[in-house]
Amino acid sequence: MSQLAAREPYTTSFEATVVDRDGRAVVLDETYFYAESGGQPADRGTLAGAPVAHVRTREDGDIVHRLAEDTDLEAVPEVGQPVRGQVDESFRTYCMRAHTASHALYGAGRELLADLGYGGFDIGERKVRVDFTTATDIDDEVLADLERLTNRAVWDSRPVTWAEIPEAEARSREEIAFNTKTEEGVMSEADTVRVVEIEGFDWAACGGTHVENTREIGPVTVLDRSNPGEGLTRVEFAVGPTAIRRRAEDVRAARAAARELDASVPDLPDAARQAGEEIERLTAELNDARDELLAARLADLGDEPVERDGGEWLVGTVSGFGPNEVADRAKALAGDGGDAGGPDASGDAETGYDAVVLAGEDGSTFVVAATAGDPAAGDVVGEVTDAFGGGGGGRPTFAQGGGLDATPEEVVAFLRE
Ligand SMILES: [Zn+2]
Repeated sequence: MSQLAAREPYTTSFEATVVDRDGRAVVLDETYFYAESGGQPADRGTLAGAPVAHVRTREDGDIVHRLAEDTDLEAVPEVGQPVRGQVDESFRTYCMRAHTASHALYGAGRELLADLGYGGFDIGERKVRVDFTTATDIDDEVLADLERLTNRAVWDSRPVTWAEIPEAEARSREEIAFNTKTEEGVMSEADTVRVVEIEGFDWAACGGTHVENTREIGPVTVLDRSNPGEGLTRVEFAVGPTAIRRRAEDVRAARAAARELDASVPDLPDAARQAGEEIERLTAELNDARDELLAARLADLGDEPVERDGGEWLVGTVSGFGPNEVADRAKALAGDGGDAGGPDASGDAETGYDAVVLAGEDGSTFVVAATAGDPAAGDVVGEVTDAFGGGGGGRPTFAQGGGLDATPEEVVAFLRE
């Protein structure tokens, strides 16, 4: 048989007799406190005025109320004495609404999800999670529809009923959802199953506390979706104040975004997409322009090449550019030189500078060196870091250093000596 609390969830105040007591652990002849079971937390409240810290079902099936640590044990009735129980109404109501909402969500899932099954369920202080097993990808669109249909079921004010029926009958009715985790308390010794029905919408074997009509659930807001394991999709939602607050936050955020993009809320996706495309286009344009600027800057430097170690070096500063931006052009100028406009850009010999060494600032002063191999790029950078600190390294034909304790101009002056 299911718990008395599940059968009569609206009863929150009662009198019972103590039948067993061991310190702070109290067993009554009957109790309307819900003992924690399959994803639904225990009720809160008081026994003889003492706060109840926890309610659990013992192995022998008895429900044990554990009183709070600081309970005055003298004031707790002994075995055989009557005791008044008061279940915390607001928490009980929250659990009833949240729990029934999970059934409504599952009912909505019946209309939207293929090969649907129950994977688990948990009622938390602020949110509820339901794990679905389904072949359907619960994307944003499906998630929004799940929320819509759940709230529609609330509005439709569907009666919610519960009854114990023979297990064989329950198993033969395909529409009844079984959740292995909440079956504790569902199966009884008499081989009956407790079935909770949202009229025409959902049927589940369940031992928890529920409201009698879906309209009591109030607004339901889907919070999040995730994949906790293979084939499982977790949907988190809220009811009550948390649901209402979250809805308001979403509206506020959507309206603020719409204001920024000078669009209406329904037009937000289009406006955001257009803004993204615009950024992409402008970024490409900017990159092209910067590349041209860099090419022009390097061409100017090419007017004053440096004779060094018997070779021709291109040395200069590249303020406004980062090391990664200048690397490719430096490599090209030091390589075959042809396309990138080296000293023999006219094309015949296809030879570049013996070394291209550029200094700039990117947080700190950096140096980039590209060579044809002689001198080794790493040696050039090593010379600079020996003089100005910092560190660096690279391959024989390309190296870079950073963290130099000098301005780019000082590095260039050093290299031009
Ligand atoms: Zn339930």
